[in-house]
Amino acid sequence: MEFDVLVIGGGAAGMSCALVLGSALDKPFAESKRVGIIMHQKASDLQSALFNNALGVPPGTSGQSILKSGLEQIEERYPRVERIGKEKVKEILPLEVGFQVISNKNTYVSQKVVVAVGYSNLVKIKGLEKYMIPHKKAKASKNRIQLINEDHVVFPGLYVAGTLAGWRSQYAIACGSGAAVATDILTEWNEGEHIKVHDKLTREERD
Ligand SMILES: Cc1cc2nc3c(=O)[nH]c(=O)nc-3n(C[C@H](O)[C@H](O)[C@H](O)COP(=O)(O)OP(=O)(O)OC[C@H]3O[C@@H](n4cnc5c(N)ncnc54)[C@H](O)[C@@H]3O)c2cc1C
Repeated sequence: MEFDVLVIGGGAAGMSCALVLGSALDKPFAESKRVGIIMHQKASDLQSALFNNALGVPPGTSGQSILKSGLEQIEERYPRVERIGKEKVKEILPLEVGFQVISNKNTYVSQKVVVAVGYSNLVKIKGLEKYMIPHKKAKASKNRIQLINEDHVVFPGLYVAGTLAGWRSQYAIACGSGAAVATDILTEWNEGEHIKVHDKLTREERD
């Protein structure tokens, strides 16, 4: 199974990244690309979060409902993004070109990988150990971790997003980080020409 990009983690950063990638798959530079997301959600911080302070999210929204609606949004809006449910990644191996991603059920090959598995020190993915450092923007007593990265790039082709990239744990920041990685990948696919994906209202709809 060869992907152009495989997102690992179905929380805030991972789903946000998948949505922005999915929204570009009808563009000429991306139409042949294969995108997947490993949608493991059990260990997401969203399982226990309640949102009153996230712009655009109705106050009182539970993180659990976002886990469900995020998946539905990907499925309904961007069905070309392949959702791989209930698998946990165990190992990421760099190949000469791309990466092998080994889960508890399957093995995948992908040109690029986005790791968005949260900042818990309980996350154990072989191949990432050498990039793991104590989180720079979380309480030391919580033993959170991040991956060494420069502007989300850990290693050419290997990206990190969300809290694991070293960002503070706020929903909007995690979503923004995932979206930022997606637009960086889209820009690369577009031969370095900067890309953002915007939908807009028609003049009639605006008035
Ligand atoms: C109790 C609580 C309350 C919160 N309240 C707020 C709030 O009011 N406002 C606010 O802005 N933010 C709040 N947050 C923070 C917000 O939920 C997080 O910042 C955000 O969820 C982080 O996103 P992330 O994608 O980095 O990680 P997560 O959302 O945790 O996603 C990580 C994903 O990776 C998956 N995963 C883990 N290991 C593997 C593996 N080996 N293979 C595949 N997948 C894997 C997990 O299952 C999960 O789906 C709260 C968090 C908590 C815990």
